[in-house]
Amino acid sequence: MPIELATNDAVEIAARAIRSGQLVAFPTETVYGLGADATCGLAVAKIYEAKQRPSFNPLIIHVLDLQSAAQYGNLNILARRLAETFWPGPLTVVVPRTPQSKIAELATAGLETIALRVPAHPVACALLRQAAGPIAAPSANRSGHVSPTSAAHVCADLGDAPAFILDGGPTPLGLESTIVAVCDQQATLLRAGAITRDELQSALGQSLLEPCRGGKYAPAAPGQLARHYAPRSTLRLNAAAPGIGEAWLAFGPVGTAHQGAFFNLSPSGDLREAAANLFAALRELDASAGEAIAVSPIPETGLGEAINDRLRRGAAPNPSAA
Ligand code: AMP
Ligand code: MG
Repeated sequence: MPIELATNDAVEIAARAIRSGQLVAFPTETVYGLGADATCGLAVAKIYEAKQRPSFNPLIIHVLDLQSAAQYGNLNILARRLAETFWPGPLTVVVPRTPQSKIAELATAGLETIALRVPAHPVACALLRQAAGPIAAPSANRSGHVSPTSAAHVCADLGDAPAFILDGGPTPLGLESTIVAVCDQQATLLRAGAITRDELQSALGQSLLEPCRGGKYAPAAPGQLARHYAPRSTLRLNAAAPGIGEAWLAFGPVGTAHQGAFFNLSPSGDLREAAANLFAALRELDASAGEAIAVSPIPETGLGEAINDRLRRGAAPNPSAA
């Protein structure tokens, strides 16, 4: 059983595990989170694997304070007003990613926005301080299950997928963080949560918008976003080999004889590595001259399901499906 009482020593060991690319479940004031080093694509891939998510939802990036948040996201005056009022606390703000951000693309699911939060729970704060870097952490439950509010819930759902489950007792709020997207001079409530609409509106001095379907930050379905990165090139899926003039997004031991643009998601056929490389690979090949990208078959098992989901969205002709 990976449950450890969240003593100072345990937090220090858990922080070391985070720094070495492992997963750690930890309490926040909302629910338990499943954390990984947000700058390491391979570590972030383990989160999706453990949760068995069939798609790559962007994750909330936890940081120690507003100053760290500003390294990874562009917080305008409105976003800062929210942050200064509610951080540390159960508020997540979605803002544009900073250019050259160190956050792994997989953590933001290839989006140009980033969800940032400064938690208030002492164990979460101690872990962030010791890990000395941003922690990507969705709720520590299996996809489709309810969010965990105790270490035992995490263990029942995720078993020993996390190297440690830091036990800080039941979470005080037991309700997910409120998510607000801030774009220009408008704030949109993406998810109702522990902080109420009235509290937000009085801090903002203006009304919150409702997410509109197809809008910039609109969730297309619960937990899904309309504005996923859509490649310009056509994706040709399950291609045995690239045609003339096509770029090649390969997977597994295929050799490198291809003349055109080429990216192998994982020469050894490792789905975790493929997930970590996916968004950078799509951008790189998309920027190459080819009209189409031939994509090698990728198994539908484990992380392959989410990778294929993303590729199928990229291959769909209707950009609103992307
Ligand atoms: P969880 O961490 O399990 O509470 O879920 C995280 C929630 O944050 C999901 O519903 C995501 O869709 C949402 N989220 C994370 N990043 C973004 C983003 N860049 N834009 C909009 N929503 C986001
Ligand atoms: Mg969740």
